[in-house]
Amino acid sequence: MTNPATLCSNLSINARGHLCFRGHDTLDLAAEYGTPLYLLDADRVRENCRTYLDTFLECFPAGSKPLFASKALSFTGIYRIMQEMGMGIDVVSSGEIHTARNAGFDLSQAFFHSNNKTDDDISFAMDTGVGYFVVDNPEELLAIQAEAERRGIRQKVLLRLTPGIDTHTYEAVNTGKVDSKFGQAIETGQAEKITVLALSQSNLDLRGFHCHVGSQVFTEDVFERAAEIMLRFIAHVRDICGYSPAFLNLGGGYGVRYIEDDPQIDIPRKIRDVAAAVNKTCAELKIPVPAILMEPGRSIVADAGLTLYTAGSVKTIPGYRTYVAVDGGMSDNPRYALYGARYTCYNAGRMNVPYEMECSLVGRCCESGDIIQPFLRLPAETGRSDTIAVCTTGAYNYSMASNYNRIPRPPIVMLHEGSHALAVRRERLEDLTALDL
Ligand SMILES: *Cc1c(COP(=O)(O)O)cnc(C)c1O
Repeated sequence: MTNPATLCSNLSINARGHLCFRGHDTLDLAAEYGTPLYLLDADRVRENCRTYLDTFLECFPAGSKPLFASKALSFTGIYRIMQEMGMGIDVVSSGEIHTARNAGFDLSQAFFHSNNKTDDDISFAMDTGVGYFVVDNPEELLAIQAEAERRGIRQKVLLRLTPGIDTHTYEAVNTGKVDSKFGQAIETGQAEKITVLALSQSNLDLRGFHCHVGSQVFTEDVFERAAEIMLRFIAHVRDICGYSPAFLNLGGGYGVRYIEDDPQIDIPRKIRDVAAAVNKTCAELKIPVPAILMEPGRSIVADAGLTLYTAGSVKTIPGYRTYVAVDGGMSDNPRYALYGARYTCYNAGRMNVPYEMECSLVGRCCESGDIIQPFLRLPAETGRSDTIAVCTTGAYNYSMASNYNRIPRPPIVMLHEGSHALAVRRERLEDLTALDL
């Protein structure tokens, strides 16, 4: 057993040998709220926001801002934190816009993404005063222009471009290549075309350019390379149209540590490197340094999350493997099934014993692929009614949860130093049939 605090500083072990999260005994939380249970360390979320906000202030020109990519974790309480911290947000659907509005978030600081905004989305985003649309393609651009014209407004937009960078991460989260469903490629000339088109629209106010190279990115200089390609494009646009953007949005994607072997990213240092590259390239190209936006999702909330389960059957197939089944699964965490994601797992009530039983942690869904984590080690004593903790589940867990097998989604409990409170209640059986006519 390694010390859990080496994975993330909000993990510790108390005198009873139990796993604690932000100082709270996880067994007490499981007993009080039931399992499966999502815990969210709100203090950690604030610390992660603060890291970005402070470094932005230090490194980038006025108007620069980190935007929380809320697809990573969307519920009312998280938008309240973002509002309080002075973060901007990314939203990708009417549902996320509605949730942010429900929290009282100032939507003028919201950036509306998606590679296929429906007419209803466009209209809802304008109704609710979403500040910026990040436009993916020419059809969408014209649809936004038409709706803005109908309303007699001038809509602020950014254009999503693909810089043609391969981040060497998992294919499904690698989005900056030319061959991508997102954005307009610089390499093919489509980026230039959509820029000229945007500038000719009377109801669109082109504010800048956006790119997003991928997610769970550890590669040394991906953001610097992306920034350089984007700035060269900006210089080219200045030469052909005389247009200079207010914003360059470099997207999200910094990787987080799910397991001890993952590298640790020093976010302030990475951002300073990006700022140095931006300043150097702008000086070389003789263009003004635009305000910089970034869109961290995972690196804001992942290590603020932890999921608690209760173990049920522990089944050993002699000569093969031991399965430890828990009372949740791919319905609350589909990331191993989707991406082969790695996680650190503990038997939360048995932290000070040897972890020598090789096993797979599986869920309760009727699907062989319903695995939370294969090939891990838990204590040999692990058995029915033990509390199992899966760490670093703050991003892309609750937001990807489903009701597969009609399993109600778990609640979210927010933790602060010295207190905790329910932020999303557990789904009830009646909720499952609430939509059925
Ligand atoms: C997913 C996404 C993000 C957030 O990525 P993380 O890896 O969670 O930081 C930011 N911007 C865009 C456009 C995205 O699609």
